[in-house]
Amino acid sequence: MSRRTADIPRQPSQIAILRYLRIHGPAARIDIGTATGLSPATVTSLTAELMTQGLVKEIQGGSNGSSASANGHRSTRGRPKVLLDLVPSAACVIGVKITINLIELALGNFKGDIEHSSQHRINTRDLDETSLITTLCTLIDAFIEKHRDVTGQSPVGIGIAVQGVADSNSGEIMWSPALRHRQMAVTEPLRRRYGDNVLMSNDANCIATAITQNTNIRGNGDFAVIMLGYGIGMGLVLNGAVYNGHFGAAAEFGHMKYQPDGPLCNCGKRGCLEAYIGDYAILRDASTLIDLPADSDNQTVNRLHPSEDQMMDLVSKARAGQEDFADLFRHAGTVLGYGIANLIALLGPERIFITGSGARAYDLMEPEIHRSLQNAQVPELRRGPKIIHLPWDKDIAMQGAIGQSLLRHDESMFAPRTNG
Ligand SMILES: [Zn+2]
Repeated sequence: MSRRTADIPRQPSQIAILRYLRIHGPAARIDIGTATGLSPATVTSLTAELMTQGLVKEIQGGSNGSSASANGHRSTRGRPKVLLDLVPSAACVIGVKITINLIELALGNFKGDIEHSSQHRINTRDLDETSLITTLCTLIDAFIEKHRDVTGQSPVGIGIAVQGVADSNSGEIMWSPALRHRQMAVTEPLRRRYGDNVLMSNDANCIATAITQNTNIRGNGDFAVIMLGYGIGMGLVLNGAVYNGHFGAAAEFGHMKYQPDGPLCNCGKRGCLEAYIGDYAILRDASTLIDLPADSDNQTVNRLHPSEDQMMDLVSKARAGQEDFADLFRHAGTVLGYGIANLIALLGPERIFITGSGARAYDLMEPEIHRSLQNAQVPELRRGPKIIHLPWDKDIAMQGAIGQSLLRHDESMFAPRTNG
């Protein structure tokens, strides 16, 4: 693809058009112009270039304003509308998700849709840095080989979502419940093999990225997404971008303190929010009430990583009116509410999303979350954000990992003075 130095001022606009189409789907030129602030002549000229480069194509939309654009603009009645859409096969990227004893891979097309995926049960906690990289390379190579016939091309990037604390700047996993070792370098060795576009974030940041790309839910301001599950994660979006902090691993909501010298957290410290709200914390407290139900996979009580069956058993008992069990979730809701109150006091986001597999018990926690907010917040400042329960979609972190990699690819395509 040829690029000229004279194109530099136009690059942000081309990236903005690609981003708009990826988020909104097929759209008319006039709607692209309205959304990006570009003049009709500029949109026509830039989209012509994008079509020449094979990144964008024209498709016939319905007549009478049935454009898929999300901003409500209506076209002139009667005439079939020409819409622009991304070419799905223009590029593909690979998403990788690392969680406890499971590594998942997915192939995302240029539109960001997942076309293929595979799951690999691996004892992740047995992996050291070298064997983790070897394992990832083996899986990625086999995945690329398997799907090369379909795509006819090599992936242009790899986006990795990892459970735990990941430093997006250095590309290291600082610590993860999926791994026994700390500070494992991941992106650098993978870049040596697969090229510069290898990015890694923790799974909550990937979910935040996916939400920024969903016009139906994202709203117009800063937001936080709290991910409940085995651990407690958070992705924070400020001024439209995921906030990683100066050191690359910010927004560790789960490891903010609730009570010094409280129960032991998985990070090794005491009294973190996670040590009250995480699945393992709820299971720990449940073990004082009953002999825990066995994991259906292992026929054992796996305290390290409670299964969905084990957690649902506790939820069912609580919903059936067993007050001891309902108290477990009420207490988690209380602690979560105080954590959210701190978040609001500090940052005042427009929206706070609560999701993750742990949101299975959101109905049991919700009244206590709001009670804590009432108790914690000064009445005059109680103009709280919308707190939105987002039903759990296990693919959303993967979609965010793929989205990050595609965005980086857009930028690299139109970066000045790239050589290839
Ligand atoms: Zn902790």
